[in-house]
Amino acid sequence: MPTILDTSIEYLKGVGTVKADMLKKELGIHTLGDLLTAYPYRYVDKTRFHKISELTEDSGEVQLKGVLRKVEVLGEGSKRRLVARFRDGTGVIELVWFRGIYWLERHLKVGAEHVVFGRVNSFNSLLNIPHPEIEEVTGENQEAERTFAPVYSSTDKLNAKGLDAKGRRRIMEALFEKIAHAGPDGAGQALPENLPDYMLQKLKLPARYDALRWIHFPRNQEELDAATRRLKFEELFFLQMRLLQSKYRRKQAIKGYVFSKVGDFFHQFYKEKLPFELTDAQKRVVKEIRADMGAGIQMNRLLQGDVGSGKTVVGLLCMLIALDNGYQACLMAPTEILAQQHFIGISDYVAGMGIEVAFLSGTVKGKKRQKILEDLAAGRIHILIGTHALIEDWVVFQNLGLAITDEQHRFGVAQRASLWKKSKPLPPHVLVMTATPIPRTLAMTLYGDLDVSVIDELPPGRKPITTVHRTENHRLRVFGFMKEEIEKGRQIYVVYPLIEESEKLDLKNLMEGYEALSREFPPPEYQLSIVHGKMKPADKDFEMQRFVKGETQIMVATTVIEVGVNVPNASVMIIENTERFGLSQLHQLRGRVGRGAEQSFCILMTDFKLSAEARERIQTMVSTNNGFEIAEADLRLRGPGNMEGTQQSGLLDLHIADLGRDGKILQAARELALRILEKDPELANPLNERLKAYLANPGRKVHNWGRIS
Ligand code: ADP
Ligand code: MG
Repeated sequence: MPTILDTSIEYLKGVGTVKADMLKKELGIHTLGDLLTAYPYRYVDKTRFHKISELTEDSGEVQLKGVLRKVEVLGEGSKRRLVARFRDGTGVIELVWFRGIYWLERHLKVGAEHVVFGRVNSFNSLLNIPHPEIEEVTGENQEAERTFAPVYSSTDKLNAKGLDAKGRRRIMEALFEKIAHAGPDGAGQALPENLPDYMLQKLKLPARYDALRWIHFPRNQEELDAATRRLKFEELFFLQMRLLQSKYRRKQAIKGYVFSKVGDFFHQFYKEKLPFELTDAQKRVVKEIRADMGAGIQMNRLLQGDVGSGKTVVGLLCMLIALDNGYQACLMAPTEILAQQHFIGISDYVAGMGIEVAFLSGTVKGKKRQKILEDLAAGRIHILIGTHALIEDWVVFQNLGLAITDEQHRFGVAQRASLWKKSKPLPPHVLVMTATPIPRTLAMTLYGDLDVSVIDELPPGRKPITTVHRTENHRLRVFGFMKEEIEKGRQIYVVYPLIEESEKLDLKNLMEGYEALSREFPPPEYQLSIVHGKMKPADKDFEMQRFVKGETQIMVATTVIEVGVNVPNASVMIIENTERFGLSQLHQLRGRVGRGAEQSFCILMTDFKLSAEARERIQTMVSTNNGFEIAEADLRLRGPGNMEGTQQSGLLDLHIADLGRDGKILQAARELALRILEKDPELANPLNERLKAYLANPGRKVHNWGRIS
């Protein structure tokens, strides 16, 4: 049922087609509902008047009341400007305009009383206010309420079309006017309360209509605070309600294969093949997954674990359970190198058990591919490992029971979703493994409708990696250190950044670095490998394998080695131009070392000059090895929208809440949503009637989030 909030903005008083078009194009505001939730991003204090005599160049934005004196046009050409002298009882200040001079000259009333608002500027040590808002004091506005005036995001184009701060405020006033007179119940009809009374009382939140009104036109700080609290809570609460409801519905609707037993493959592997004792965290997670796959409901689970926490073997154990129940399993990795490595590692693990493991990627062609596809369809292949080639339509399984994706943030949601179709009659169980630790607040949102398992413990015997920050003048000492480590039989990564815009420059950096290293580490004593994105996959693989086998001591590479590569003998990671990497990438890179029993090192090379933000990133890396702490710092520094893995998610399109800052509110909102849905999953209780109504018809478009896998 459409409401007044679905009305197009052009029908609002003072908008019309031209302004409506601008608002749509520039800010994506189409309906009155959009306009209502385009909240101010800040407020200016118009609750009081300043005295001219008290102004300094640091006064910032001020509001004055006084009389316009002389108005004159000064200067020539680009210096041409309109200057007005403005006086209150305490002093005089100049108001200056560079645009709209003629109109102003005709309309400014010398001698009349005005209210002026603007930012104090100092020019040649004289104070002035450039381009102030100015309004004559008339009988009508004399008594006007003095408020915190909202400031909305705008653009030059909007400003030019009369949609500047003042114009926008007028429109918002018109909107509230319209809402107040909508239908027989007035505001009550257009903006009905959407939270039950018991919640409002318990949480001491203002009514919805008041909150919306106050967020746009607060009369004081208290109203602004109360409105902000309510709207943030409401936004996060309904987001969680939707996620949790969709999870609940999925569990109701989507049945899964029942893996009822843990059989020979699993037990044989566990007893005879597994070369180490599982950590408690690994054991716990295997149990969680096993229970999930036996429950008759399709599993949709995220497995989070820091780099090196041992996710692969957990994935393998789960695949063996699938095999024990007569199903096939697959593992999809984001790069050729990583997929290869999984293939080799897993083939090794299960050697001699009568399990057929196959590899498939875009590079597997012709007869070889044909054979794999036939064997797969006939059920002769038990485990298929590969790249996103796995999701191509021509890949047909006999009976896929479990699909695992590794390092999921590299795959799009749609790519992952296509794994669902690989099995009939039911979708396979899905396990998404990620080494990108996600702060709790983000996980609750991005993966709010998934089940989550966490491996929060590293295998025993790992020494924490020692991380240091070095600049160019330490170069020789770094070379010396590298030689000592190679002497001890260790291997070293040297990584260069590679980002799209400056690919050529980066490649040049990499090649120069490689040449410098070749001079410093000449053959035959030293052997170097080089891997970068411009190489053919076969060449990359060849170089990579030389390093894996220990034939080369130094691997010079771009970030292609970032993901998952496992060379336990490599104990030094040197990162060049560290300032150009994000925290999560740095953490991933560092995770390539520290995989063996040796003490490992990470050397962060940078320029001497660094931005404050870069310095903080590096400081974070030096001070902690904990992926979750690093993720929290990343969230703090960059905000949720910029973090890896979040870009494609409409879930972060929040209007007022900020996942970086509002973690506590989010936590409370999720807990309450959980409690409500536990007792009343269909919201059938009359007490929850408002929640049900609002979720069915929220009054603005809500993202139709696809299932994450
Ligand atoms: P990630 O979680 O980053 O994918 P991997 O699965 O690659 O980690 O495991 C990292 C290394 O740790 C591998 O060499 C693996 O064999 C080893 N490993 C995994 N689990 C254990 C364990 N419980 N005890 C000892 N080593 C382990
Ligand atoms: Mg891994």
